[in-house]
Amino acid sequence: MNLDVSVHSYAKINLGLEITGHRDDGYHDLISVMQTISLADTLIFNPSDNISVDSGVPGLAQEDDLIWQAAVALRHATGTHQGIHVRVEKEIPSKAGLGGGSSNCATTLLVLNRMWGAKLPADTLAEIAATLGSDIVFFLNGGTALTRGRGEIVELLPDAPARWVLLVKPRESLGTASVFQELWTKEHTNGSATLRLASRQREGILDYRLMRNNLSLAAQRVCPSVQPILTELKEHSSATLLAGSGSTSFGLFENEIEARITEKIFVERNYTTFLCTFVPGHEVMREKLSIMDV
Ligand code: C5P
Repeated sequence: MNLDVSVHSYAKINLGLEITGHRDDGYHDLISVMQTISLADTLIFNPSDNISVDSGVPGLAQEDDLIWQAAVALRHATGTHQGIHVRVEKEIPSKAGLGGGSSNCATTLLVLNRMWGAKLPADTLAEIAATLGSDIVFFLNGGTALTRGRGEIVELLPDAPARWVLLVKPRESLGTASVFQELWTKEHTNGSATLRLASRQREGILDYRLMRNNLSLAAQRVCPSVQPILTELKEHSSATLLAGSGSTSFGLFENEIEARITEKIFVERNYTTFLCTFVPGHEVMREKLSIMDV
């Protein structure tokens, strides 16, 4: 019998991201609207005596892998002695602002909660997720959501209207911490645009004029090659922003052909590109939970 369980783990973009202040715990307060997109890693879970991860990320030590940390945390929370081997078929670039590691972590919590028969309730999983990283609680649900605090306070929003998303990544990758460190206090904003973006979202409207990312200048200071990508994408797309803390930028398109034509411009300049779509929350959950019925 084949006991492998294979599941997609989706990336995200931030349709809005405003850093509003410093916190005493060393993190920053933020207000963000997050959106899952169809770019995804595949995680393959196989029962085992121990916990081990084949991450697909060269040089990543096992203890630093959020998949491994999720499995260890769940084992600790439930007292189970079951193990797991997880293999990752990596598609989401690392250190690119797309939340790949956080997504993998949330997927692991959800899948192992079922595979190990732990049956922890959603709020307990969210508590564990928040100890592992700021964006992980969002990925337990996915779809479109307003996030606050350091990112771990999540309010689900109605699905955003469908859009094509062109991701463009320069050769350089960016560590989240290095971009936050480079952010100037005078670049903090009060979050009002992103709160209005969320309000419009509740009315079923994606209001491009309210889309902001105030990590954008900090990311460009750390990685100057972001700037020409943003400039070029703006010329072709309906809305353009840095993805999270970068180094990827994205453009939104209502029309697939326009998105494909724009992608070609960047491919010809040797950038890494991905063309994808928004993924609604119910599809994310269906993906993660249906596999448990086999
Ligand atoms: O929570 P996570 O481990 O994903 O965050 C990575 C780094 O990003 C943190 O160590 C911190 O430097 C920075 N960060 C922050 N404020 C946040 C989220 C992340 O300063 N709200």
